[in-house]
Amino acid sequence: MAVLVVTAAVLGLLAGSFLNVVVHRVPRGESVVRPPSRCPDCGRGIRARHNVPVFGWLVLRGRCAGCGSRISVRYPLAELGTAVLFALLALRFGPADLPAFLYFGAIGIALALIDLDCRRLPNAIVLPSYPVLAVLLTASAWYRGDWWSLARAGLGGAALFACYLALALAYPAGMGFGDVRLAGILGGVLGYVSWAALLIGAFGGFLLGAVAGVVVLAAGKGDRKTALPFGPFMIAAALVALFAAGPLGQAYQRLTGLA
Ligand SMILES: [Zn+2]
Repeated sequence: MAVLVVTAAVLGLLAGSFLNVVVHRVPRGESVVRPPSRCPDCGRGIRARHNVPVFGWLVLRGRCAGCGSRISVRYPLAELGTAVLFALLALRFGPADLPAFLYFGAIGIALALIDLDCRRLPNAIVLPSYPVLAVLLTASAWYRGDWWSLARAGLGGAALFACYLALALAYPAGMGFGDVRLAGILGGVLGYVSWAALLIGAFGGFLLGAVAGVVVLAAGKGDRKTALPFGPFMIAAALVALFAAGPLGQAYQRLTGLA
């Protein structure tokens, strides 16, 4: 168990480092493989020892070794955040389910950051995630002999996609089709876990989005027209639901006496 969690954390550091490249380059339509990482200000290539996740940034004290321009603290934080998420996922899910959920965690972080930066959820990441997750979840269901989870994933994905599509058609100003395409992914992954996870993840996104909207209004940082990107809230709620669905569902049963 401990070995799996530590391995997942190290994998998360490396994945987070790659996700930083994805978040920077995919919205610009650039290759994520070439050229190697370089300073956006002076163009100097980043040395291998300075490219080590988190530690490279600490060694450089957040400045480019060539021109001294600042390297955002968001890079090491994204690496650290991915490592923590991967470790938590390794604690939560068995080895058979883990690949699908690590993949989901990774694209979740990348999509949330891109949506915050550019207000969009690139098809280049969302669309290939449908077949990738279908294959990973099918392999996991086959390994565990649990076909009902896979059926629930299909139903959950279709249901959440349909709900968001209806919302996007009814309120075109409030919801984009990027959100609709993402909803199918979230519904599938949450449905695979349980109906409770699907419900908590689906409603949680609107709850988090509404709370954030009120906070922004109250802080005087924007008016009603300041559109917050919705993707990060959908993704955050889905990640919370992966972990909270079990305990919250039990608490609800105790409160209501429903079995
Ligand atoms: Zn530089």
